[in-house]
Amino acid sequence: MNLRLFLPVALLALTACGSSGTATDSSSAAAPEGALVVATTVSPLTSIVAAVGGDNVDIQGIVPEGVNSHTFEPAPQDAELLSKADIIFVNGLKLEDPTLALAEANMKDGAEIVELGTIALPEADYIYDFSFPEDEGKPNPHLWTDPTYAIQYADLVRQKLSERDPANAAEYQANYDAFKAEAEKLAEAVSTDQQTVPAGGLKLVTYHDAYAYFARNFGWSVVGAIQPKTFDEPTPTEIAGLIEQIRTEGVPTIFGSEVFPSTVLEAIAAETGVRYEDSLRDDDLPGEPGSPEHSLLELLRYNYRTMISGLGGDPAALDALVFTIAVPDMAYYPQ
Ligand SMILES: [Zn+2]
Repeated sequence: MNLRLFLPVALLALTACGSSGTATDSSSAAAPEGALVVATTVSPLTSIVAAVGGDNVDIQGIVPEGVNSHTFEPAPQDAELLSKADIIFVNGLKLEDPTLALAEANMKDGAEIVELGTIALPEADYIYDFSFPEDEGKPNPHLWTDPTYAIQYADLVRQKLSERDPANAAEYQANYDAFKAEAEKLAEAVSTDQQTVPAGGLKLVTYHDAYAYFARNFGWSVVGAIQPKTFDEPTPTEIAGLIEQIRTEGVPTIFGSEVFPSTVLEAIAAETGVRYEDSLRDDDLPGEPGSPEHSLLELLRYNYRTMISGLGGDPAALDALVFTIAVPDMAYYPQ
């Protein structure tokens, strides 16, 4: 795809100068006439859909990178995109309820909403925790930080695109096979490198609670995630509890996120004497849109290597990994 790209700054500029910001402005120049219009929400999903759909579909992401997807409210003009989309891929698991509601109210006849996470994760496997407590009814939605779930998402995308556009099914299959092979290489590299972390050290204290499923599948433990369900800062009592836990568990590093800057982690690090690493990326893909690094797999590689080196390991296999699939450009719908 050679889509016109809209960085957050460009989005602001569009809004500021009163552009009508119509779907026509952003639609793919390269997607063939009559291509499926596919709307997606968060950037990890958009990256997966782009990897499978390649140049055959017109993909438009709704949630800009680097914003809090958990509190994101779609703009009224997103209704226009959602009214044109043939398929709307969302994570589900209650992550994007406002966008889902807007989609349901505006989707055209024959359009479909596919909740990738809700399909991929049986209810018995839901994880609830401090940031996503069970009494709120919203499970932790972050399946995509685990490459095995990213592969399942890609397979669901492949199935749906092939069903709606059978003429290109062989290409979706080939794209999926390539994505799966790369994600498996990534899983293998993290499994190798995590063995270099000193025994008993695969313990995560993060600000944003995005690694619960990854941790369960890869044998790590999440000592704590600091961000409360409101996405506000934790209370002094909650902070005191975490400081206690960090001391008990003896973690060397705590991990913050550039998407959710917080002074609380800094204060906790100062109080406990542990290192504060503030650069996990959550859903802010590395590199500029259109560059080879701008993909979910590169984001995960970056996060895993940051965690493993922060915990005293050597991320040599992750560093040595070379991804060979071409990453198609992604477009964000103008806001
Ligand atoms: Zn998140």
